[in-house]
Order: sequence, then structure tokens, then C-alpha cells
Amino acid sequence: MVYGMQIESKEISTVYGIQSPWEITEITADHEKKEVYLHVRCTDESGLCCRKCGKICPVYDRRKRMWRHLDTGSYITRVVSRIHRVKCPDCGICTTAVPWSSPSARVTHEFEALAIDLLLEMKTVSAVSRHLGVSWPVIDGIMQRAVRRGLERREETLPDKICVEEVSAGKGQNYVTIVSNSRTGTVLHIGEGRTKKTLTDWYNQFPHAQLGKIKSISMDMWPAYIHSSLECVPGAIKKICFDRFHIMKYISGAVDKVRRQEHKELRKEGRDDLKGTKYHWLTNKQNLSPIKKKELLLLRKSSLRTARAWAIKEMSRGLWNYVSRTWAKKGWDRWLSWAMRCRLEPMKKAGKTVKEHLWGIINAIVLEGSNGPAESINSRIKTVKVCSRGFRNKKRLATAIYFHLGGLDLYPGGVQKRAVSLK
Ligand SMILES: [Zn+2]
Repeated sequence: MVYGMQIESKEISTVYGIQSPWEITEITADHEKKEVYLHVRCTDESGLCCRKCGKICPVYDRRKRMWRHLDTGSYITRVVSRIHRVKCPDCGICTTAVPWSSPSARVTHEFEALAIDLLLEMKTVSAVSRHLGVSWPVIDGIMQRAVRRGLERREETLPDKICVEEVSAGKGQNYVTIVSNSRTGTVLHIGEGRTKKTLTDWYNQFPHAQLGKIKSISMDMWPAYIHSSLECVPGAIKKICFDRFHIMKYISGAVDKVRRQEHKELRKEGRDDLKGTKYHWLTNKQNLSPIKKKELLLLRKSSLRTARAWAIKEMSRGLWNYVSRTWAKKGWDRWLSWAMRCRLEPMKKAGKTVKEHLWGIINAIVLEGSNGPAESINSRIKTVKVCSRGFRNKKRLATAIYFHLGGLDLYPGGVQKRAVSLK
């Protein structure tokens, strides 16, 4: 065992991530507060420059500042240094940047990277601020900086497959429009409201030729998005896709309406054939428990109207695997003629809507194949919302969505992320 190992001051600086021309000159501790202080000094002041224009300038004065750093053992660690203000002939007096921290941040890059990792894991700002023992605004600031940084670094190119969805942002008719990359699921844009203008404003940022390269636009049957896309994207009539998820949800909703009506009528006659069967009809057969599967088998052989509606829905589930437009159209036409003749009002209404939007359904079938995006943006945003205990403020919701779902490079420059593998 070797005691009293000598570590050079430069090495200590490297250990703590302090780079030349800055160096740790002294390390002190306050055992009562359980804090360690790294005293850092600039060893060469000749290259200090103005933060605004980059010009090398003479030092005007020095001011003491402190930054929270990664802990040393169980001690909170702070970098203490005097940072320079320079006198720039063009910009006036301005504070110079330090390599370990973002301007005006009171934490180091390393600490910021740790907080980002924890935010990605724990989701809530309050959980991370409790865990690290810093105030809520500090962590919130780190999150906002990370998103700003990530958005600035992002390349503004348009993917060939996009998805447009509306997401409720709080109570009532409060919506945001989310545009995402269908291939990666990454959120590209969050727009205020869900009007035609919301989406058009986003499209308008891109040149016409670039918009022409979009191959598919997946969306719900929301007229504002349809009209905006038809106007802005060349050839949109062959690109707009009403995806399987939304259409099946719509048709299932109609089955549920039939069930509710019938259940009401049966109860008046004292029958409870449909009691407790809601999810028998709505869940995909393969996801039902063996008992429920058996119960469904009996129910669907009955003469119940709900059983008929269910059969119509089941037929539509099998109509998403076509490769050619012609055969897809033939398949859906067969379905439509059944849905329109079935004498079940909700199913007829669903049939009418499908008929009006059939062009986009066929697009979805031939352009997207049988499997669309694995999980809708909506359900992923729900997790972000739940973990962040709702958002009354749209700006905060947007920050959290970009942070968790934006696929952004969030980390401060210069931080070497260690490759962590838990597998
Ligand atoms: Zn300047």
C-alpha cells in the first residue's frame, strides 16, 4: 500500500474537470457544512475575450463567484473563483465566459449533465431538486437551458415521413399541435392551438421544394390539418394518411355506442346480457384473458345488435394489410357496403365518415404498411404529463416535451459522457 501519493495540482484540476488556463490552486473544506471548496485561478489572463464579439480585451475587474460542482464523497463541492470582466471597445464592460459553466449558471457543466441524466430518469423537476439538494428554479433552469441548447444544435431538415397530432394542454379546449418524425418518433415542432394556421405557419418555414419531398403525413381526421396540408404540401392528396390507430378507435367508439344503447334497452326488460362486457367488445381478441375469450365466443353467437357491430369492426381490423391501392379499395368498399346496410345508426355514421376519408385510409395502407408508429405521441406525452403532475403553462409543457421526446443533444459542451451500460 502506498500512502501519501503525490498528485500534482494540474492532475487535481483534470480530476475535477478544470481546464487550462484555469487551475485549482487550493482545496479547503468546511466540516460543519460538509462542503469542499475548489479554489480556481486563471493562470494566463492574456487571452480573455469579450463574450459578445470574441475580441481579446483588457481585464476591467474580477468578481468572486461560486458554482455547485459534483460532490466529493459525501461533501457538497463548490468551485470558487474570481471571474473577469473585460472592457471591450465595442460592447462595453462584459463578463467573460468560464469553461466549466454556462453564462449566468450557478452550477458547473458536470453538475448540469448529472441533473439532465436524473431528469431523464426521474422526469420531475421537484424530484431531481430534492435529490440533489438544490432549489426548484435551479433544476428548472437547467432543463430550459438544455432544451435551448438542443434546439440550437438541431439541424433543420425535414424528414420524409411526418405525423401531426393535437394534444390537450390542460383543462378545456386548450390544445397544442405536435409535429413529429414518424420514423423516429422524435418531436419536431410544438405549435400553439390546433388551427389551420398553426400547422401552416410551420410548413411555411420550409421551401416548397423541400415540402415536396415529404412522402407521408400521418394524422387524425382533423379538418384543419387536412386543409393546411392540402394547401402547403405538393401532392398531399396522395400523402395524407389517416392511420390505423385513429380509424380503429373511431370504429370501436361506434361499437361502444351500440352496446350502450342496447344495454339500456335490455335493462328495461330486466336483462343484463351486456353487463360488464364493455372491454370484451373493444379489446383485441388476442389480448383477452382465456375466460373473457370464452365469454366473447358465446356473446358473439347471440342475436345481440352489439355482436353485429363487433363483427363489422373485426372485419375492418383485417383491412390494413393490402399492398395495392386497387385491392385495398375493393376491401374497404365491401366493408362500407356492410356498414351502411347494417341498420345500426352509430355504425352507419362511422361508415359515412370512413367513406369520406377513404382516400387517406388507402394512403395509410399503401404508404405505412401494417404497422404505423409503435406508440402514438399522445400516449408518450401522457407519461411526460403524469410524471410532471400536469402543466397549466403551455410553455412549460413544450419544454418538457422537447426535453423528453425531442431527441435533442441536451448536454453542455465539453462534457464527456461516459458510456454507461447496465446490461
Ligand atoms: Zn465585444
